[in-house]
Amino acid sequence: METANAERCPFCSSTRLNAFTRVAHDATPGGDGRVNVVECPGCVAAWQYPLGRNPDESRETFDAAYTAAEGGYFDPARRRAVSELQRQFIEARMPVGDVLDVGCGDGSFARTMAEAGWRATGLDPAVPDKVLNEPGPPGLQLIRGSLADLPDGQCFDLITLWDVVEHLDHPMGLLGAVTARLRPGGLLVMETGNYQSAGRIESGDTWWNYQLDHRWYFAPPQLEAIARDIGLEPVEWAPQVLRPWWRGSPTSHPPRLRSVVKALAKGPQAFVRAKQRHDELGTAHRDWPHWGGLEIVTLIAKRPA
Ligand SMILES: [Zn+2]
Repeated sequence: METANAERCPFCSSTRLNAFTRVAHDATPGGDGRVNVVECPGCVAAWQYPLGRNPDESRETFDAAYTAAEGGYFDPARRRAVSELQRQFIEARMPVGDVLDVGCGDGSFARTMAEAGWRATGLDPAVPDKVLNEPGPPGLQLIRGSLADLPDGQCFDLITLWDVVEHLDHPMGLLGAVTARLRPGGLLVMETGNYQSAGRIESGDTWWNYQLDHRWYFAPPQLEAIARDIGLEPVEWAPQVLRPWWRGSPTSHPPRLRSVVKALAKGPQAFVRAKQRHDELGTAHRDWPHWGGLEIVTLIAKRPA
């Protein structure tokens, strides 16, 4: 996989690409928040190029977000509810062991795992001070830093990347280094937004996943290819979005004629738009029957024993 550019698809090398801009979902009010999207219609995946925010600016943004926010995605109570769902999902598939959470943010998931008896290490360049200084359950270690800050040779039964891969300039570099920390037979979990989803089509130009810090808009085929490239065997997709408040199943939502009929009353332009969306959803339902209904997908891949 190549790095992001505007000439060739990093996944299939096609030069037939679409370029467009979208308002960034995380743009600050009054700020200049636009995302430059390059899309490969062959792969049905996309990426940001050129970037709307450089890596240093991103780190500062996350420092501030994890330290300040309540009520949104970074709200501690919501984070704990998500972590609990993630823990249940994992414990249904493997016994308790050593877990490394890469990009742990405020450490919520690592803490939840440690409370359940795992030896849990959370790693993030932006762990907030107040979290680092908080007493934690036995087995919890939070490190502000990168993989290079772990002791040489320390390996894990499970490594998790929740909402991490879409933020990376060079996903293959980090993922290769992560895989080297996985014990034989160990599992890697990757979660990210799904470009091949009915939700993306229904949201049109205002999809929540268009964000300044989201450099990649992956879908399951690219994630499976990446897993194989780093020597892992893709084993399973989560059957749901791992957010307690998120509904929907992998089977993509079939298009509803009712929305087109309703649009008739709003005039010819609305009707044409609704009809177009209806047709796109029909295509999605046919092309992505196993994951189109999930706007966020979670892949489990295994390091061969
Ligand atoms: Zn492509």
